[in-house]
Amino acid sequence: MELDGKIAVVTGGSRGIGRAISLELGRAGAYVLVNYLKNADAAQQVVAELGGRGLAVQADVSTQAGVDALIAAGEAAGGIELLVNNAGITRDGLLLRMTDEDWTSVIDTNLGSVFRCCRGAAQHMLSRRRGAIVNITSISGIQGNPGQSNYSAAKAGIIAFSRSMAKELGRRNIRVNCVAPGFIDTDMTHALPSELVDGVKQMIPLRRLGKPEEIAPIVRFLLGPGASYVTGQTFVVDGGIS
Ligand code: NAP
Repeated sequence: MELDGKIAVVTGGSRGIGRAISLELGRAGAYVLVNYLKNADAAQQVVAELGGRGLAVQADVSTQAGVDALIAAGEAAGGIELLVNNAGITRDGLLLRMTDEDWTSVIDTNLGSVFRCCRGAAQHMLSRRRGAIVNITSISGIQGNPGQSNYSAAKAGIIAFSRSMAKELGRRNIRVNCVAPGFIDTDMTHALPSELVDGVKQMIPLRRLGKPEEIAPIVRFLLGPGASYVTGQTFVVDGGIS
């Protein structure tokens, strides 16, 4: 398998897209650190599905202490070679009703975590002169979305951050790419009103939401040898809506 013997960290690996990515990387041969915030049972279930070839790691990646603990766990497991920054939250609201807390929590969790996890992992990847990173952004970060100014700003920030990282880290053989999903069937979209989801489906050329299992294979590809000359890019997986 193309990722045999490699240690992967997936932030927010307990549910939704991160869960599917963790399982896909496991199928590709990687040993996966499945990070989560609260859902220990869900994370342990993913590790069980990995056949025990992984580890559930509780850590709040919106904080430096959480990221330090996660990176330390990855290094203790053998050294992080693959990093997927997937953890994310929404706190949707129109601008005039958006609180500072809505803004800060979304920026810290979605964008701050990417900065801190990349900084922590890159320190080790740089000395080993190899590594691959995939950051999960969103089509909201490309085209914007009403009611999601905080989320869209964070996701756009991830794309620009990743381009800069690709330029900074490329000469040490570290690649950095993004995947931008459209509307995917997870707990995050289950929170949306059903009329809104029905309306969205009509705008998607493929006429349905995506499944987490339809995001995971492109992440596997970008982390693997088939993408050895790909860096600084954003891959949209959205059923055609954008
Ligand atoms: P989800 O089902 O809500 O799962 C979120 C995951 O992130 C969970 O594993 C959760 O852990 C973890 N998490 C949240 N805050 C965290 C923190 N501070 N520290 C560590 N882990 C944290 O979300 P999803 O829909 O799979 O989304 C995954 C990623 O894809 C996000 O970045 C999201 O923005 C992006 N995305 C999603 C969609 C979509 O339509 N679903 C579209 C575009 C982009 P617990 O289980 O412990 O709570």
